[in-house]
Amino acid sequence: MTFGGDVSEVQTENVIIVGSGPAGYTAALYASRADLSPLVIEGFLWGGLLQQTTDVENYPGYPEGISGPEMMQQLRDQAERFGTRFITDEATRIELSRDGGEHRVWIGEQELRARAVVLAMGAEHRKLGVPGEEELASRGVSYCATCDAAFFRERQTAIVGGGDSAMEEAIFLSKFASKVTVVNRRDEFRASQIMLDRARAIENLELLTPYVVSSFEPGAGPALTHAVLRHSDTGEERRLDLDGVFIAVGHEPNSALVEGQLELDDELYVVTEGKSTRTGVPGVFAAGDLVDHTYRQAVTAAGSGCQAALDAEWYLRDSMSPEAHWLSERETGETPATVTA
Ligand code: NDP
Repeated sequence: MTFGGDVSEVQTENVIIVGSGPAGYTAALYASRADLSPLVIEGFLWGGLLQQTTDVENYPGYPEGISGPEMMQQLRDQAERFGTRFITDEATRIELSRDGGEHRVWIGEQELRARAVVLAMGAEHRKLGVPGEEELASRGVSYCATCDAAFFRERQTAIVGGGDSAMEEAIFLSKFASKVTVVNRRDEFRASQIMLDRARAIENLELLTPYVVSSFEPGAGPALTHAVLRHSDTGEERRLDLDGVFIAVGHEPNSALVEGQLELDDELYVVTEGKSTRTGVPGVFAAGDLVDHTYRQAVTAAGSGCQAALDAEWYLRDSMSPEAHWLSERETGETPATVTA
């Protein structure tokens, strides 16, 4: 890791933002414009799930659409323009101070402290955990049909899952693939009726139930050729020939670093107070997919990142003792650092 500024010593930051999707970068933009000189721990693979997306066509302000990575670069640049500093590395440990005060964040051995923390670690695609899933990732097994559908023109494909995401992905994929089989583990679908009806109306889309995936298999080469499915009730096995499969069985929030320190719901999403981004710990705010199982859009994540920065700003304003002072660029005369791994 190389340091472009003086963040190697333990100094108390105003705001540390952990995570770098639309929520994290928008929080950074607002916090930097509030003169809080935020420090973003953005991870090696900064940019979150949108880094895996080809075209983003539903983010306002881009009438022609924009690629996910390009959009994330622009959000990052915009935050940097106002003095945001970045550490391109992973937060490995977080220790929240239950009653407020200084919260601590580690990157390996390096300790950082902050009066306010915005958690924006996002969520990950849930995995099936079956043989072949990891080995054939990007060689036929994927988690985003909207990203990769164009590679599967006139090919045999499947979607695993039965929720709205699975239906949405299947409907999109059916425009490219010769066949889409939706494999769901129950006869009933979790998806909304309207999505199900749309899927059922598509000629090259088949709903196959109740089956679970036992394994994904390569042929003689390194790529996926078929899946082995198992009937959920009878245990009977069958082979499904495939060029590509997309797994859409939900998401899991990246909340492990704060488990046991903050209230999490049944699905391990961070719980926030009412419409705010406040958690149960003073000075700790959460935004984006880490708190949201429902909307999970770039624009909603960005909106909640904005809320988190405003909540943090108000918290710092209201909790400042008379002798405390902002560690802002303006007052310390320090040049904001860009820290890259
Ligand atoms: P959901 O949690 O709604 O659905 C997950 C699906 O995956 C379920 O069918 C579930 O089966 C199945 N599943 C979970 N784990 C496994 C497993 N290990 N093996 C096999 N199958 C599994 O997630 P979604 O991502 O679909 O949706 C999340 C939220 O986003 C929902 O609120 C949804 O309405 C919303 N959404 C809305 C859209 C829209 O309105 N256009 C589009 C996309 C999402 P089971 O039912 O048996 O648990």
